[in-house]
Amino acid sequence: MVPEVVFVLGAPGSGKGTQCSLISKEYDFVHLSAGDLLREERQRPGSEYGEMIEEKIRNGEIVPVEVTCSLIHKAMQNSGKTRFLIDGFPRNKDNLDGWNRVMFDKTKLLFVLFFECSRDICTERCLGRGAAGSGRSDDNLESLQKRFNTYLNDTLPIINHYDEQNLVRRISAEVAPEKVFEDVKIAFNNIGLKRIAN
Ligand code: UDP
Ligand code: MG
Repeated sequence: MVPEVVFVLGAPGSGKGTQCSLISKEYDFVHLSAGDLLREERQRPGSEYGEMIEEKIRNGEIVPVEVTCSLIHKAMQNSGKTRFLIDGFPRNKDNLDGWNRVMFDKTKLLFVLFFECSRDICTERCLGRGAAGSGRSDDNLESLQKRFNTYLNDTLPIINHYDEQNLVRRISAEVAPEKVFEDVKIAFNNIGLKRIAN
């Protein structure tokens, strides 16, 4: 079976990671966060990309797709599974083109989950996460401003690109996680994906 993919996009702090962990508990999807994979690679002893990744993350810039896409591809292969939530990717045109070059024929894109949330709420959440000890070097006001600029300039056009193909499932993400998840489930149930029996 060709691996099936759902891209999960939205502003920093819109709740992508939170919703992905809820989804992966109820549906048979492996959660792959591009940001987490990059942070892992940054920590890997001997990685030739560590410093570059740290600089990009701190500045809210996007890592070249060759690095990110190969981390995602490897994680997909290592999982031995066939359904994936790809959280926080593709974030710009370089990501989109790089994915399509290597992965378009190897995967089936089911849809794109898009979490909509105001900048004020997102900022508050990320700063709260930083204050609560996320340990992330980009959960501070200066990095957040840069991350938001990147999101508005580079990521929104990617969402529009998929919207033109009717692949975007838009979810309002300003309420509590359990409430947001109610809408998320509709998107998954609509394409006939079964929940894991428990
Ligand atoms: N990042 C990247 N490429 C990706 C995903 C993330 O370069 O495909 C970098 C980018 O610098 C981004 C940071 O990792 O600002 C954090 O991304 P993450 O998705 O973890 O942040 P979130 O949006 O979940 O707050
Ligand atoms: Mg995240």
